[in-house]
Order: sequence, then C-alpha cells, then structure tokens
Amino acid sequence: MDHLPAALMPPPVALYIHVPFCISICPYCDFVVYAGREARGERSRLTAFLAALHVELDLRADLLAAQNAGQPRPPLRSVYLGGGTPSLLSAPQVTDLLDHVARRYGLAADAEVTIEVNPGPADRGDLRGYRAAGVGRVSIGVQSLQASELRTLGRRHSAADVAATVDLARAAAFDSVSIDLLYDIPGQTLETWSATLHMALGLAVDHVSAYALALDDPAAEGLTGILGDHRPVRAGARAWRDRVRPGQDEDRAAEMYELASDRLEGAGLAGYELSNWARAGHEGRHNLVYWQREPYAGLGPGAHAFDGAGRRTWTAASLADYLGVLTPAHRVAASLPVGGGELIDDSTAVAEAAILGLRLRQGIPVELARHPGVSAGLAWGMSHGLLERVVTRVRLTPRGRLLADEVFARLLPAGATASRREAAA
Ligand code: SF4
Repeated sequence: MDHLPAALMPPPVALYIHVPFCISICPYCDFVVYAGREARGERSRLTAFLAALHVELDLRADLLAAQNAGQPRPPLRSVYLGGGTPSLLSAPQVTDLLDHVARRYGLAADAEVTIEVNPGPADRGDLRGYRAAGVGRVSIGVQSLQASELRTLGRRHSAADVAATVDLARAAAFDSVSIDLLYDIPGQTLETWSATLHMALGLAVDHVSAYALALDDPAAEGLTGILGDHRPVRAGARAWRDRVRPGQDEDRAAEMYELASDRLEGAGLAGYELSNWARAGHEGRHNLVYWQREPYAGLGPGAHAFDGAGRRTWTAASLADYLGVLTPAHRVAASLPVGGGELIDDSTAVAEAAILGLRLRQGIPVELARHPGVSAGLAWGMSHGLLERVVTRVRLTPRGRLLADEVFARLLPAGATASRREAAA
C-alpha cells in the first residue's frame, strides 16, 4: 500500500470524541479517565476540558481543510462520544459540541451519533436532552446484572438502575439502544452469566457487546510514557488485578462466549462481529469504520486517529498537557497536543485488514485471503477447521470464533510490533 502525502489522504468518515471523566475509577479500567474532584464539584476540570476540546476541534478541522484545499469533503457518517463517562456532560454542552462538529466537519443527515452512558442515577445524564441535541444511539455501560459482580468490578450501579436507564432511553425515543457486558469476571459462574444474559434479553435492547474482562498492564506494554495514550494503573488497582487474576479461566470464558452467542442469536440478535450482536439495522456503524480500516479522526486525551492507509496517531493521555497547550495563558497561541503515532508498513496493513475483516461475520474477500502476506496463516486456519470459504469470502467457523486469536497470531508479519513510533502533533 502506497503511503500517500497527507494532502491526498481521504478525509475521516467518523469522529471519536473522548470525554476523560468518571465519578470514580473502576480497578480494571484502562481508558484515559480522571475521577473524583476532577470530574465533579467546584474543582472539576470538565468545563476547562470542554473549552480545550472546542479549540482542538477547530485546530484539527483547520488542518484538514488545509490538507484538502479545493477538494470537497464528505460529511461525517458517525460521531461517537466515548469515555470516561460522556453522560457527565449536560445536554447544552452536548448540543454545543455536536453543533460545532457539524459546522467544522460536516455531519451527514443520517449520521450515527452515539453517546456512552453510565446507568447510575448520578451519571446517566439527561437522555431526553441528548436526544434533542441530535444523539440517536445510546451505549449503556452495564457490564453485569449481578450485584456481587458489579461490586467486584467497582461499579456504582445496580441492575434496577440499568432497567431504569433503558426505560429512559426508550422514552426519549433513541433510534438504537446498546448495552456492554463483560464475562470472565472473577467470581462469575456459567450460571450467573446465564442469568445476566437472560436479564439483558429481557431489556429488549437493539445491540449487545460482550467482551472478556481484560486485566492487562498498559505500562508493561509501553503505552504510558509522556506521549503514551494510557495512564499508568494506580497501585491499588494493580494490587486488585493481581489478586483477582487467578479467578479468571480461559476455558470457562470460552464456554461463556458460546453461551452468549447461542442466547443472543436465538433471541434475534445476529453476531455481526466477534464481540457484537445486533438486531437487523442496528449494527454499530462507528465501530464498523474501525473494523473496515476506514479513516477516522479523534479528539480528546488518548483519542486515536487513522488515515485509512498507513498512519495511525494518538493524543497523549495527560489532561494537564492537553489543557496547557490548547488553552494556554498569557496570550500564547493554542497548539495541538502532543501524542504518538505509528507508520504501518504494507505487510502489516494487509495483516490488519485480514484480522479486522475476519472479526466480522462476513469475513474477507478471497482476493485478500490469497495475499502472500496472509495466505499461509489462513491456510493453517482452514486446515484446522477454524476458517471456511463461503463462495467468494473466507470467514471464521464457529470453532474459529472461539480460537480467533490463534488464527490472528499467524497472520501478523514477524516484527510487526516494531512499527516506528514517532512524535506527532
Ligand atoms: S465507568 Fe468505564 S470509563 Fe469510567 S472508570 Fe469505570 S470502566 Fe473506566
């Protein structure tokens, strides 16, 4: 894949906006989050963050306009307010933000606009107000519907809060309501997972994401430096992870995944991606942009952007640095926050396209499967019954969906992790 000069790169089709505040921090969380008095009350930095975010939006839109001088730019197909807890924003704050996005980036009339919402009464936000602001899709961070598991995860809400939030979302007439669930939670059993799935289906939502709980260490992965897109895990959270990790079990997690897939499919939610199920027409269009390697932009600390070809960039996680350069004192001109980036070489790009494409139920076209960079790994998957060819496409089999990581590991070129990291604005 050729690396085009920035001026010729296709413009983003989607925009992710990271709101890095939560009332408290869950010990398993690896997102860029600031909590406690930074998130609420007189010393909250939320208002300062929003001021900086609007400046970043203008600076990035200016840059894009300069790169695309004279070229018409299609409006965004998706905007995603993620976090953190974006439902800590008021409805007028969301309205201002979306208006600004529409003015500077353009927003298609049928664009998918999503907000992540926590279910607790203190942080579920103003759902009617968000709907009136133009948000059409709500993604509720449920994780579990069992009180003991929610306690284990450090979550502040109850199953009753989840039901109330779904009711409020329905009453506010959102087009699409999605919930996130976690499995392989320490202390979770097949029975409690089954009960959570049963209760989740009782909510009659349009979309369900179910991910295995990950307890990685971003510092060990080299993601927490000055330009890193992660914050270091706090000592207490690290101790919690070390304590609960032995309670996880790969085999049990695989059983939980199969149970989720059977139940959700049986209830009419098609598994369109490895970890995502939806009623027809409710597939998450924003994440499809990621899985199909289309270009997207990102705003906020820790947010990522991708040019659709060979360059991925991100903004550093430090909120202080973010505020400092975007809203500087003493008439200093604002500038874009620092961050990191990586150039994706051609063979890694092919592997990424194959891996992300195989996450989708439709799989990848045979032309891509024949590429010498991935054909040997895919042949291994075929010979082990993990992949199948269906007419002109190659996709994971049901067993392959359980062992997808085994296939994906064979598709990455040797040394793919050594992509060049560079400072990027
Ligand atoms: S609510 Fe979500 S984003 Fe906030 S700390 Fe918990 S897991 Fe992280």
